[in-house]
Amino acid sequence: MEPILDNHMHLDPEHGRGVEAVEEFSRLGGTHLLVVNKPSWHLGALPESGDDFEHVFETTLDAVAAATEVLEGRAWPVLGVHPGLVSQLVDDGRTPAEAGEIMRAGLDLASEYVANGRALALKSGRPHYEVSDEVWDASNAVLDHALSLGAEHDCVVQLHTEASEDLTDVTERGEEYGLPAHRVVKHYAGGRLRGPTPSVISRKDELERAAEADEPFLMETDFIDDPDRPGAVLGPKTVPRRVRWLREEGYEAAIRTAHVQTPERVYGIDTVATLDD
Ligand SMILES: [Zn+2]
Repeated sequence: MEPILDNHMHLDPEHGRGVEAVEEFSRLGGTHLLVVNKPSWHLGALPESGDDFEHVFETTLDAVAAATEVLEGRAWPVLGVHPGLVSQLVDDGRTPAEAGEIMRAGLDLASEYVANGRALALKSGRPHYEVSDEVWDASNAVLDHALSLGAEHDCVVQLHTEASEDLTDVTERGEEYGLPAHRVVKHYAGGRLRGPTPSVISRKDELERAAEADEPFLMETDFIDDPDRPGAVLGPKTVPRRVRWLREEGYEAAIRTAHVQTPERVYGIDTVATLDD
């Protein structure tokens, strides 16, 4: 059996399909998952402090444990703060600076999970939509904090950012803190990217570009597990299906890059050794 990793999926056992989505992924040959916590406002009221992220993080850890039961390989949690939270908090009456403070506190809590081995990586970023200068500056301060925590705890930072093929401004800032560029991963990336390691959204055109580029990359669906938005993103079967398609197209080396070599190089995870015998 060959490892197949979806680098960015959400699971919502309370409202969505939860482990059923993992079973579907596994049935098609998927073996490993990085499960990213849902935006905190999906699972409760707006946070007022770092402690208010605990529920969403614990829910994610439970979902990861349930997923690992099902998978031939295993799942790992990625915890952090969705960059869109800044707008939710500002709409609720906070200043951008206050919103940033709450978000940094959430990242501090997430980094405690990384420090004690309960989470693999952090998730941060900046808005992918138009915002005011104040909100943009506050968001970049949050992102800087995440990069510094990644360096401090020697872990990957997954980014949710604006669409771009050049995010060297972010990886250069990470390097100033001591976080190597390849340990910054852009979620929902296209097939080519300067700066972070791309986690390529599993559409054929983008995967083909990544495979042709012959650079490290990962594959993801960003399956959101939201019953109110079915079909809003790619479904849980997509990564195993696209791996089959890449094989048919003759991209055997790219499959190994995305599912064995890049996970090892970027996260330090061994997707081969963690397969059940
Ligand atoms: Zn996502």
